[in-house]
Amino acid sequence: MHYRMNEPVRAEIGEAAYSTTVHWRNGEFIADEPPKNGGHDVGPDPFTLLLSSLATCTLITLRMHIEKVGWDVPSIGVAVNYFTALKDGETVTTLDRDIVFTSPLTADQQVTLREVAANCPISRLLEGQVTVRTFVERTGEAEAKEYAGDGFVVEWRPDFCQHSTRCWTQLNKVFNPTERPWIHPEAAPAERIEEQVGQCPTGALKFRRV
Ligand code: SF4
Repeated sequence: MHYRMNEPVRAEIGEAAYSTTVHWRNGEFIADEPPKNGGHDVGPDPFTLLLSSLATCTLITLRMHIEKVGWDVPSIGVAVNYFTALKDGETVTTLDRDIVFTSPLTADQQVTLREVAANCPISRLLEGQVTVRTFVERTGEAEAKEYAGDGFVVEWRPDFCQHSTRCWTQLNKVFNPTERPWIHPEAAPAERIEEQVGQCPTGALKFRRV
């Protein structure tokens, strides 16, 4: 598993309600809650930060595309808000994003840019499968169990395994959760095992030549 950010976003809070210092790679800023929630509104609240992420990603992605195709669009604005509704007993959240171009665009350009905005990285993240894992006092990387083959080792990190079933449904003679040990590196060629390890969606499996 490789984290996509070189450095995690770090944040701290003291006893003052609810000023929170957020550190990013080139500085820091304050987040807070509005007075109705007991804070002092000295910085954006968490929901504002979440919507800001989508707003800024939308604009940056649009600007990158416009630069690439060489269109004349001096300024773009976006407004993002959200609402929730109950559906089949579950809370469903909808984010609405309204984009405004300050110069006239053709209908084709509008369609293209709408598509570009809809596929900005934060849109894809929010609309994909997201899991939040919570650790307390985590130290270092998750511990790996090792399974030695002929000239290679398969590593498995139980903490990262989401039991997606992919490995054992696609290469059951090597990955068999009903047996102990559950990984049999001798049961298939190294190349086939390496290929299967590469399919692990969480990075729980790793392949290492020795
Ligand atoms: S493919 Fe990866 S995440 Fe899925 S069960 Fe196997 S080890 Fe776990």
